[in-house]
Amino acid sequence: MKPRSIKTRITLWITLLVVVLFSLMLLFAFSMSSSVVQRTARQQLADAVRANAALVSFADGQFAAGEGFAFSRSGVSCLVYSKAEALLAGQLPVGFSASVPFENGTLRTVESSGGDWYLLDLWVADGWENGVWLRGLMEVPDVSATARNLLLAAAVALPLFVLAGALGCYFILRRSLRGLDAVNAAASSIGEGKDLSRRIGPVPGGRELTQLAENFDGLLERLQRSFEAERRFTADASHELRTPVSIIKSACEYAEAFDETDEERRETLGMIHRQADKMAGLIGQLLALTRLDQGTETLRPVPLDLGQLARRTLEDQNYDAARLRLALAEGVTVKGDEALLGRLAANLVDNAFKYGLPGGTVTVEVRAENGEALLTVADEGPGIPAGQQEKIWQRFYQVDAARGDQQEGVGLGLSLVQRIAQLHGGRMTLKSAEGAPSAFTLHLPLA
Ligand code: ADP
Repeated sequence: MKPRSIKTRITLWITLLVVVLFSLMLLFAFSMSSSVVQRTARQQLADAVRANAALVSFADGQFAAGEGFAFSRSGVSCLVYSKAEALLAGQLPVGFSASVPFENGTLRTVESSGGDWYLLDLWVADGWENGVWLRGLMEVPDVSATARNLLLAAAVALPLFVLAGALGCYFILRRSLRGLDAVNAAASSIGEGKDLSRRIGPVPGGRELTQLAENFDGLLERLQRSFEAERRFTADASHELRTPVSIIKSACEYAEAFDETDEERRETLGMIHRQADKMAGLIGQLLALTRLDQGTETLRPVPLDLGQLARRTLEDQNYDAARLRLALAEGVTVKGDEALLGRLAANLVDNAFKYGLPGGTVTVEVRAENGEALLTVADEGPGIPAGQQEKIWQRFYQVDAARGDQQEGVGLGLSLVQRIAQLHGGRMTLKSAEGAPSAFTLHLPLA
């Protein structure tokens, strides 16, 4: 069974609530009004009997009604009985036939064949021995008329209330949820068509839905960017791999087709070797980046002396010592993964040799500054134009692609450098300009 829509559910709930609330209010109004009517009637009876009692007088021990004594007024009947309970004056009201023993001062409700009556007896004494009973009687007011009136009002008002409540609720909800429908439609059309460039845009229906749509659009924006980057990365990677493979293939085909001299063969083999190296480098960098991205390459951070690490890395790499200038401070300790930080340093020094001034000096410096450990690799030019300095950190970006082709790089080195810095809670900065030296600096928190 399809679940009921939120609109229907909330409307039903509100309607039910209106009905219950209305019925409770009705019940309350009824009980209030009937209790007020009854209280007023009892007060009226008591007042009338007491007023009469004040007007009783005796002449020679005989009862005499003073002026203003009312035997019947506003539904209250007043009767006078002797001490021996014989009726002296007044008339029993029609419909009252019960014989009730006298009881001084208590207002009682008594049942009679004609209905219920309020009854109040008062003893009016004349000396120690003599006196009369005053008995007031009043019919208990019929509250069924009140109930009937209330029910009539309810019969008219309740459907109106329910209808207004339900319709109001339904329309407000329908308007509010229209925005949700827009989000829904966009989500399913994106799901079906895989069109990540679609956006929901402004939606009707209140602040929450506008916020939802904005968040959704933001999510789509990020998804689209990451999908785009993924797609570009795959395309670039396959392109970069295809180039050396086709060079190797055509070199082989040429060697097979033509009878090459030993020297030519050596040259061909050399070219194949260089291209295979380039591929190996590329695959290695790709793997490293993927592992870092996926978190499969686990970081093994240990306290490291950054200067010693740089020195070890440079020794391992067999650089031209005559072109290296070192300024490695002692005791600059960081917490990091030795292999990854070594790779970072080697990448920066490789680049300085590859892209720096031919024959120029490469300076590697380690120092502590402002609570940070710094590793700087600087060359003597020709620098990187300001407009390209942001882009060189992107994957496969090369400032001069044609020049890059001569070298074994493919534009992944600096992406790897930046990723490693980030994984260590650090960052990379670059100071360079066109025609000026470049200085790449790794900033790490001091251990
Ligand atoms: P690659 O694998 O091609 O070396 P990188 O990501 O290491 O790629 O570098 C990206 C680009 O940045 C290089 O192609 C190069 O043009 C430029 N670059 C890197 N280091 C330097 C440098 N020290 N001086 C000038 N340009 C540089």
